[in-house]
Amino acid sequence: MKKTILLLLLSISSFAQIDKMEPPFWYAGMHNPELQIMFYGKNIAQYQASVSNDVVIKNVVKTENPNYIFVTIDTKNIPPSDFVFSFKNKNKVAFTKKYTLKNRRLNSAQRKSFDASDMMYLIMPDRFANGNPNNDSNASLNEKANRSLPGGRHGGDIQGIINHLDYLQELGVTALWSTPLCEDNDKGYSYHTYGQSDVYRIDPRYGTNEEYLKLSSEMKKRGMKLIKDYVTNHWGAEHWMFKDLPTYDWFHQFPGYAQSNYRMTTQFDTNASAIDTKYCMDGWFVTSMPDLNQSNPLVLNYITQNAIWWIEYADLDGFRVDTYSYNDKVAIAKWTKAITDEYPNFNIVGEVWMHDQAQMSYWQKDSPISAIQSYNSNLPSVMDFTLHDAFGNVFNEDNASWNDGMIKVYDNFTNDFLYANPNNLLTFVENHDTGRFNHIYKNDFKKYQMAMTLLATVRGIPQIYYGSEIGMAGDKGKGDADIRQDFPGGWEDDANNAFTKSGRTVEQSKFYDFTAKLFQWRKNKSVVHFGKMTHYIPENNVYVYFRHNDTETVMVVINNSAEVKSIKTSRFQENIKTFISGKDVLSGKSVDIKNQISLEGKSVLILELN
Ligand code: CA
Repeated sequence: MKKTILLLLLSISSFAQIDKMEPPFWYAGMHNPELQIMFYGKNIAQYQASVSNDVVIKNVVKTENPNYIFVTIDTKNIPPSDFVFSFKNKNKVAFTKKYTLKNRRLNSAQRKSFDASDMMYLIMPDRFANGNPNNDSNASLNEKANRSLPGGRHGGDIQGIINHLDYLQELGVTALWSTPLCEDNDKGYSYHTYGQSDVYRIDPRYGTNEEYLKLSSEMKKRGMKLIKDYVTNHWGAEHWMFKDLPTYDWFHQFPGYAQSNYRMTTQFDTNASAIDTKYCMDGWFVTSMPDLNQSNPLVLNYITQNAIWWIEYADLDGFRVDTYSYNDKVAIAKWTKAITDEYPNFNIVGEVWMHDQAQMSYWQKDSPISAIQSYNSNLPSVMDFTLHDAFGNVFNEDNASWNDGMIKVYDNFTNDFLYANPNNLLTFVENHDTGRFNHIYKNDFKKYQMAMTLLATVRGIPQIYYGSEIGMAGDKGKGDADIRQDFPGGWEDDANNAFTKSGRTVEQSKFYDFTAKLFQWRKNKSVVHFGKMTHYIPENNVYVYFRHNDTETVMVVINNSAEVKSIKTSRFQENIKTFISGKDVLSGKSVDIKNQISLEGKSVLILELN
């Protein structure tokens, strides 16, 4: 009888084991000394947590799910060290767990980030290059590689990116934005990785956490920056916490699924109904992406610490935040502030996909627009979607009218007064969710030159989308997979290898060489990064603007008409001043600007005035 009881007691204590501890480790000397560690294990909440080494437990939170316990400790004045958590039952230690506070890198808090001096390159890692064919499928994960499926997993990975850093560097890339790399265990279409199932783990089909760290350090060696795509709004339905909810309201419940109406205007519309507002923010993006409830402090803390953990662990240089304007706006402002409190120079660009500058400005830190409603999202950077809108059709408008032609591009910048920091906007022609430029414009090289010239010389942080620099196209109308095709040469059996000069076709070289020349030039042109922009109302579909500072002046002329145009330079006297010629950045030739400049139809001129 006694023996049976003893065995029973033993089996009870062996129930309680820690399956997860997150964050798995932390760092000493953080700005915010409070650290909330989540322990997960069967019935763990029935134990009392204590900790060694004079570490102070500030509070313990238990939820309606006994498998979770949240322990907040004060890390202030604790040196980098190991300490031990003990879990007691009736004053007897049932089990223990070691925790580590690590050393931070030198000047970690003051790390630099991306800005207008960078050129950002966006890739989808599954579609870029397969550096390790052995990790294409993983026994523990649902979806296996199948390159014949347009929406399947194709095997691209972190090693593939590392293998092609030279290619990116030659192109003039200084910052890399990769779509998410954490585990996404969806049964299908998992390659985009926006439905994450474990946000502390790199998807094994991309590599390991250590390989991600290696990517970061390889980039640092080259002076390049790594930007992580962070998703605060939702996780995937295969997330282990969705399968064992810490609290009923960890995700927005209706109960269960309700679809977002995607009307982000409800975030500030004073006439909006409560139900529309609720469905925008709390509705799910799709059934496979449960919508996180950031207004639950446990959730907010979890995603805040996770974000900081990645910065510190992988030595990151910035974030791109997915679907920023779908989050609870008060909570997301706290998330963003917590990160920039830890890293004052850290840049974060949020996806705010709106078509109105005032509405986009609303989300940028210290916005004069959001100040009207006493709101500050603390987000340093937003994406210039209205410029993107103009890029989508302006180059087909050969004949200017009051509303058509280059006036559309000009008008975009007339609204810069709405932004707190227009030079910290991310400017782009396309991304992984939009139509591809080379499809929209049927690979018209002259139109590509106009778009890239604008991107490289207007204010903001230019971002280009992988493959366009070799003329890659893809039709959004055929579905997302068509705009996310494999980069030619990323797979061993690819007949065409566009990663190398000798492997590129004549057509690919034409696109690549132009793009590289432009962005290599831009790399060291501080006047284009941070100089003032002065532009002139387009006449006859010709747009003229200058970037200038105390020491340098760059003049840009874009002729969007189909005919040769001559422009008299006297109109631009306030910027041309005493300059009489300029060096054409693309041809290297000197151009006389004393009286007039002539340009072919659909062509560009970038002049360094001298
Ligand atoms: Ca692979």
